[in-house]
Amino acid sequence: MARIIDAPLTSAPEGSCDPRSVHGTWGALDAAARRGLAFTPEVKAKTDHLYEKVKHVIPAVEWPAYAPLIAAINEMKAAKNAVILAHNYMTSEIFHCVGDFRGDSLQLAREAAETDAAVIVQAGVHFMAETSKILAPDKTVLIPDLRAGCSLAASITGADVRLIKARYPGVPVVTYVNTSADVKAESDVCCTSSNAAAVVEWAAREWQTDRVILLPDEFLAKNVATQTGIRIISWHGRCEVHERFSAEDIAELRAAHPGIVVLAHPECPPDVMAASDFAGSTAALQDYVVEKRPGKVVLLTECSMSDNVAMAAPDVDFIRPCNLCPHMKRITLEGIYDALANMQHEVTIPEDVRARAEHAIQRMLDLPKEKPRAFETGRAPVAVELV
Ligand code: SF4
Repeated sequence: MARIIDAPLTSAPEGSCDPRSVHGTWGALDAAARRGLAFTPEVKAKTDHLYEKVKHVIPAVEWPAYAPLIAAINEMKAAKNAVILAHNYMTSEIFHCVGDFRGDSLQLAREAAETDAAVIVQAGVHFMAETSKILAPDKTVLIPDLRAGCSLAASITGADVRLIKARYPGVPVVTYVNTSADVKAESDVCCTSSNAAAVVEWAAREWQTDRVILLPDEFLAKNVATQTGIRIISWHGRCEVHERFSAEDIAELRAAHPGIVVLAHPECPPDVMAASDFAGSTAALQDYVVEKRPGKVVLLTECSMSDNVAMAAPDVDFIRPCNLCPHMKRITLEGIYDALANMQHEVTIPEDVRARAEHAIQRMLDLPKEKPRAFETGRAPVAVELV
């Protein structure tokens, strides 16, 4: 079941899934040298404490390739009053060694809104950088690689949402944050996988309706429908990483690893959710592992997540089916270095679009803060209306 999506994996060690290989770091150990950086005794002294955090995933022999970039990035952050927002799907050398704030989309959106830094570097995909710019319009927001997209965000446009609203007048529109600023601008309120069910319930109450439009993820919509009992109208968008997990995968895992605890992300198909032991956002999955300490666990989500959670739960045995997000893996240490050194790839949004999108995001942020809500597994799938 291990799969690498769109990934020219060349020389990772046998039996390992090394996400860093996807964007060529494995084969480009001279990235630091090409930028005039070297693994000196000073660099070693500045980064030894960081290596402790990632030694479970980065072999010692590779560290001299990463350490000079990490040291240089951390110095530039201080000099330029910059912070790095690192999503849970970043590789460990980014997540643990240069990330200032780490988390899921909701946690990073809150940090973007609150940071005092002048510059935000988004170690995540483009819609996340747009979300930061929407919430922090006076700050310079950089994305290390403009090609870091998302299959969900690419599935729908603002024009599509306008057509849907015309077809269902008066029905509230909730959009997943995994969408462009243009789509958010057409929405009543945003949600993330941490709060999707709570936002849908809130929208139904506010609009006094039993129908809610939830865009664009078909599977998230179906999974929210099973949790809330609210009639959901949705779209045919899918996350190209999570749609590939299947209930057969889970049966194989349980047969191969008796007693394993299966955790799923709600962008997975409903039959995967039904066959899992627990389901929730990346933040909820992390909380579960850290609090419950299962002996052996599998996270049905993006590949790097297990590496990053493993640091907080070293006693847990992670089985790692490897579904990589090719968009997330476009974000590299060298890309972050170049973005900061050259102040390149700034994200901009027309002000009228930004202001309307901010309204939808702010409505979500203003809802009572609650723990990432788990999805109850084992429930029978509920149909949704797909536009
Ligand atoms: S993991 Fe899925 S939802 Fe997240 S950025 Fe990649 S394609 Fe988009």
